[in-house]
Amino acid sequence: EFGEDEGDESDLVIRPPVVTVMGHVDHGKTKLLDALRNANVVDKEAGGITQHIGAYQVATEVDGNDRRITFIDTPGHEAFTAMRARGSKSSDIAVLVVAADDGVMPQTVEALNHAKAAGVPIVVAVNKIDKPDADPTKVRGQLTEYGLVPEEYGGDSMFVDVSAKSELNLDKLLEAIVLTADASLDLRANPTQDAQGLVIEAHLDKGRGPVATVLVQRGTLRVGDSIVAGPAHGRVRAMIDEHGDPIEQADPSRPAMVLGLSAVPGAGQNFIVVEDDRMARQIAEKREARERAANQARYRVRRTLEDFMASMEKGESQELNLILKGDVSGSVEALEDALAKIDVGDEVSLRVIDRGVGAITETNVDLAAASDAIIIGFNVRPQGKATELADREGVEIRYYTVIYQAIDEIEAALKGMLKPEFEESTLGQAEIRAIFRSSKVGNIAGCMVIDGVIRRNAKVRVIRDGAVVANNLDLASLKREKDDASEVREGFECGLVLRNFQDIKEGDIVEAFEMREIPRG
Ligand code: GDP
Repeated sequence: EFGEDEGDESDLVIRPPVVTVMGHVDHGKTKLLDALRNANVVDKEAGGITQHIGAYQVATEVDGNDRRITFIDTPGHEAFTAMRARGSKSSDIAVLVVAADDGVMPQTVEALNHAKAAGVPIVVAVNKIDKPDADPTKVRGQLTEYGLVPEEYGGDSMFVDVSAKSELNLDKLLEAIVLTADASLDLRANPTQDAQGLVIEAHLDKGRGPVATVLVQRGTLRVGDSIVAGPAHGRVRAMIDEHGDPIEQADPSRPAMVLGLSAVPGAGQNFIVVEDDRMARQIAEKREARERAANQARYRVRRTLEDFMASMEKGESQELNLILKGDVSGSVEALEDALAKIDVGDEVSLRVIDRGVGAITETNVDLAAASDAIIIGFNVRPQGKATELADREGVEIRYYTVIYQAIDEIEAALKGMLKPEFEESTLGQAEIRAIFRSSKVGNIAGCMVIDGVIRRNAKVRVIRDGAVVANNLDLASLKREKDDASEVREGFECGLVLRNFQDIKEGDIVEAFEMREIPRG
């Protein structure tokens, strides 16, 4: 399933499974996707040409019922991997294509592991059975060793012998997909809510501007809806299906090509429908800024530290300049004292060239740029155009909320082995728009999630005028409308109560974050 839907049980209707085709190169993924599209695409007009829009839906009959299946039409697991890396689940089922003459190959195993890691059931298409040297029994034996035991051997994986070339047994494959979905998944969605989903692929079309194929995961997407897709926004001007025909709406699991976006979003990014164009633009701008900052931060960290280490190796610069900014003077002093105690030997020197209390300003960034310094922000955030300037100048800003973590990292950098174990990642931000005083639960913040997602179990901080006024807080409650929510996404309103912190004001930003362990090696 794709997550929570709004509404009651009775609002949920069955939706088609979304399928990715994976397997070793040359085993017939593309050919199979083509064959399935040509033979079964829904409502195909006689002789009509289908369009490659990145995904398509086919119709089939199982036990006398009309059933549909959505195929992601980008063979290989690149798209799948890209989407997983973004934390979005693109498919319900994986079809693992294995050529019956070649048998299990390295990428077969890789694909299988990807699907397993994603918790996605696998249907095996044993392809090329038209070939004289095809040995489907061998394939079954090989895959059994990887835990995919065919039903006919008492296991619970469905294997179907097919030929994409001769279009043999394609119906059986479709049936196996439907049966697997029915047996192990509860695929239902609420078509009445605002649409949400994923971008499958997108490009810039000369005549039509940015076009994006989206997969609707919840709700129904309609022409005229205001949407945000990745960092792009706009109003859905038109939607086109896999036959190149215009459609007015797309229900859950339906792919559609969307026209009317301001920019080209990336594959795997999500889209949401929001109240109006203004909101769409606001959210898109935030997303873009966040994305830019994230990219730049990665780039800067690598470059700055590599530069520093390289120059150390060459015996050039042996000085690391720092600018310290903190929320209160006590923390800046504590940081500076602790840094002074770092023993890095004689070759290297650490210099704090400036320090101060308050948000990181453009002046700080200017100075850092002029002196090759790194800015350390302790419980503070940049103000105004400081981030933009830092991006432009290639100035590294590192943020910390825990003193020893700042010390550890700087020490490690000086010793040429920077490897933080934990990295903070921002989940999202909500703006406090109203405050309700309750004698029972304390002050309830009526918020609009303006970026990312707020999770019930995340850590949060409160930011006021660019400075952190409270940090490392827990949520005492998170509600969407009247119900407790485990998470609330951008574009939605929520009510939240902070544990042990009541001093909130309208306009405050509640930022949710988590500490992620950084994988080694
Ligand atoms: P992909 O790399 O997995 O996408 O593989 P392709 O779909 O490009 O197929 C690789 C080659 O195998 C092509 O030359 C296809 O024509 C051929 N091929 C694919 N399916 C079959 C099949 O069922 N039977 C035979 N004989 N050849 C096939």
